[in-house]
Amino acid sequence: MSFQPPKGTDDIGAPESHIWRDVLRQWETWADRFGYPLVMTPLFEATELFERGVGDDTEVVTKQMYTFTDKGGRSVTLRPEGTAGVVRAFLNSGVPGAWKGAYSGPMFRYERPQAGRRRQFWQVGVEYLDVEGPAADAEVIELGFRFLSAVEVAGLKVVLNSMGDESCRPGYVATLRAYLSERRTDLCDESESLVDLNPLRVLDCKVCAPVLDDAPAMKDYLCAACADHYAGVKAYLEHLEIPYSEDGRLVRGLDYYTRTAFEYVATDLAAAQNAVGGGGRYDGLAESIGGRRAPGVGFALGVDRIVLSSSLVPDSLLDVYVISETNPPDALFASSLLRRAGLRVDFDTEGRSVKAQFKVASRSVARAVLVVRGRKDPVEARIGEERTELPIGDAAQWLTDRLR
Ligand code: AMP
Repeated sequence: MSFQPPKGTDDIGAPESHIWRDVLRQWETWADRFGYPLVMTPLFEATELFERGVGDDTEVVTKQMYTFTDKGGRSVTLRPEGTAGVVRAFLNSGVPGAWKGAYSGPMFRYERPQAGRRRQFWQVGVEYLDVEGPAADAEVIELGFRFLSAVEVAGLKVVLNSMGDESCRPGYVATLRAYLSERRTDLCDESESLVDLNPLRVLDCKVCAPVLDDAPAMKDYLCAACADHYAGVKAYLEHLEIPYSEDGRLVRGLDYYTRTAFEYVATDLAAAQNAVGGGGRYDGLAESIGGRRAPGVGFALGVDRIVLSSSLVPDSLLDVYVISETNPPDALFASSLLRRAGLRVDFDTEGRSVKAQFKVASRSVARAVLVVRGRKDPVEARIGEERTELPIGDAAQWLTDRLR
């Protein structure tokens, strides 16, 4: 009998995991720099949280959730996204005033698996709550942009739109519905079924693009407050020198967005998976999950896709490979000394020949080699062409001086 990972899930080991590790480390660095503390929420929540928070008629909720009844008869769902849980945690914490949180972890959606579209995938993201001004949106967009630039996402682009709010969006939706109704016969079946239900989603349809070229755009229907907000976000992005383009058809798949919507696109990836992440403002979300009014803005980035599009080359994982001409205990002892001095060290525990150990050392791409003879004899340290004999007690310092 041999078990495979469940459909749409992956085992990720070296060397690919080295890139994951570097990407996740960069994430921590950038989230810290922007003042977003780590927030960890459960991998499963009450199903209703997602129904209300993500939206009952969204694709994620209607088709993609991993929902089950637990032994206590409660309906729970593996989280398909991070925002609803984080906003719930924020509301439960009772913190007044502006609040920031950064998350990182697996999400679950029952999707048709392909490259960059998995059933278990990893997102990093932030939420910034109880903030209304456009500077908050700009700061959030900047964080994602700086992080994605640091992990060398190829062909990075920010795409921006405004989705209006409860005062101007209904009028726009009615105008869009009327426009689409007149062209029903030119729409694909799926889009046709959305005209009455949620015409904004039709804007997302790649197949219907020709019909949508002349469709009315939300940005021409914004109320004064939304137009001001949108202009503010754009001005700040220009000030921060973040390149962006506007796309009146950008509507995010989840129901909760108001005003700002944005995506980060890796133009070098195939179009179907080139959105490495996206986000926006969700001023009504906290209330829709039963909390107080707490406007907010955030994003989620897909790490699977970031790794696919990143040109990062991971650093060497090992500083020193210790080779023993005698027996494993001497290498074990020498390795321990070096490790306690902060070096990254490996050695052979199985007493293989010196020749075999040298082979492993060169495969491991360790930056230095230390050859140990007997416990009391001098050791030989090698870094590239440089070689020296010294007492074991001095080896850690010698290596550290040269490797750090
Ligand atoms: P969303 O929450 O749908 O806006 O997704 C945000 C980002 O998460 C996307 O741009 C993708 O990078 C990533 N993502 C979403 N769904 C999947 C999936 N099924 N597999 C891999 N990555 C995904």
